[in-house]
This record gives sequence, structure tokens and C-alpha cells, in this order.
Amino acid sequence: MIDKRPTCIVRCTGVADVIDTVNVARTHGVTLAVRGAGHNIAGTALCDGGIVADLSRMKGIRLDLAAQTVRAQPGVTWGDLDRETQAFGLAVPGGIVSTTGIAGLTLGGGFGWLTRTYGYTCDNLLSVDIVTADGAFLTASENEHADLFWGIRGGGGNFGIITSFEYRLRPVGPTVLAGLVLYRRDVGGTRSRSPLTPLGGAGDAPGRGRGPGRRARDGHRPP
Ligand SMILES: Cc1cc2nc3c(=O)[nH]c(=O)nc-3n(C[C@H](O)[C@H](O)[C@H](O)COP(=O)(O)OP(=O)(O)OC[C@H]3O[C@@H](n4cnc5c(N)ncnc54)[C@H](O)[C@@H]3O)c2cc1C
Repeated sequence: MIDKRPTCIVRCTGVADVIDTVNVARTHGVTLAVRGAGHNIAGTALCDGGIVADLSRMKGIRLDLAAQTVRAQPGVTWGDLDRETQAFGLAVPGGIVSTTGIAGLTLGGGFGWLTRTYGYTCDNLLSVDIVTADGAFLTASENEHADLFWGIRGGGGNFGIITSFEYRLRPVGPTVLAGLVLYRRDVGGTRSRSPLTPLGGAGDAPGRGRGPGRRARDGHRPP
């Protein structure tokens, strides 16, 4: 499906490799593409004739249970991250497919099973370490390089190469209830929402849970 032929693929194993790759590409005026887990079907992680910084070997994950945060490198997939966080009954709201990379998904905003309860993936991002086009290594958060941090949360990979993501952890499971919740028409019929509005829709966002979807979920939580 994707047929692109880079001249060189650099299999980065750490921040130093990323900085060197950015500097070589800039110095020689070569196109540079960045690959996280390679799940983007448009093939934006590759390029023709340039350099690919392949980050798929950067798979470090470290939880801080006291702070309820986790740091993960850009080669990590949602399956990798869930495996570590679920050992402690915690999770980061991510995508619905385990093989998708945390990097591209987070940079695109990211939505999945937990979004209605805990927001988009980028809402749960606390900071990133990033190598910018001039080869500088920065940390961006609400308090440091806040404009860069704003752009990263949904702006895609256009602002530099992220070498570490720090997320807020949320309590989830490890036993969770999943499935479809249906109501008889007479139960929700007096409400103003359209019969076509899916249960757990916009009114079900965190802090606004007054719709039948929210009531149902509260009433069906596992013990
Ligand atoms: C089967 C499938 C299911 C999906 N399900 C969901 C879903 O449930 N929710 C959802 O939100 N999305 C979903 N997506 C979309 C997915 O989030 C995007 O395709 C995402 O880009 C994948 O990230 P990746 O790291 O695997 O991809 P890659 O192809 O490696 O990268 C995607 C883009 O991000 C850039 N990038 C990657 N890593 C970095 C980095 N460290 N620094 C800077 N730029 C970087 C790349 O250059 C590229 O432009 C799904 C996609 C597929 C194919």
C-alpha cells in the first residue's frame, strides 16, 4: 500500500541518535521523515530519497506511581503501554488497536475507548522531550515552551521529533465491562435528544454526564 524508497534509514536507539540525524539532514539539505510505530496508512512516516529516523526501537516505559504519570518513548505501541500500566490498574486513554503507535496517535490528538470518560490522548499529555529542526533538545509542557506544547497536541509531527511522552495515568480496570448498552424507547423517550443520537454522545463528556449514557455507565460499573 505504501511504496516509498528512502535513501537511508537510521534506526535510532536514543536521543543522541535523533539529534545527530536531524543535524545531518539539515546540514546536507536532505528530506527527513520520522517513523514511530509506522501505523499511519498515508505513509507519512516515510519519504522518497531522503532519510528516515526510525524510532521503533525506542521502547522505554517508566511509571511514576506516586505521581500517577508514565513516560514512554516513541517506538512504544498502545499494546506495550497498556501491558505496563494495567499491571497497576492504570491506563492512558489511547487508540482502539494495540499495534498503533503512541507517537503518531498522540500527535494527532488521539481518541479511543476511554475518550468519553477521560478525554483525548493529547488532553492527558503532560510534557514531551523534543528535538527541534536546529538540533536543540527541549522539554515542552504547559509551563515550558507552552506555544510549542500547544501545537504538538494535535498538530501532528511537524514541530520536531518527540523523544519522550509524559502522560497522566487514569484508574482503569484491570477488569473492565465492555459492550453495548441499549434502552427501551419508553425509558429515554421523554428526553429531547433524537432517537438517532448514539448513547454516550456529546452530553457524555467528562464533567457533563447528565445523559442516559452516563447514568447507564455509572449504574453498570463492575464491583
Ligand atoms: C488499524 C488502525 C487503527 C487506528 N485506530 C485509531 C484510534 O483508535 N484512535 C486514533 O486516534 N487513531 C487511530 N488510528 C490512526 C493512528 O493514530 C495514526 O495512523 C497514527 O499516526 C499512528 O501512529 P504511529 O506512531 O504508529 O505512526 P507512524 O506512521 O510511525 O507516524 C505517523 C505520523 O507521526 C509522525 N511521527 C511519528 N513519531 C513521531 C515522533 N516521535 N516525533 C514526531 N513525529 C512523529 C510521523 O512522521 C508520521 O507523520 C488508527 C490507524 C490504524 C491503521
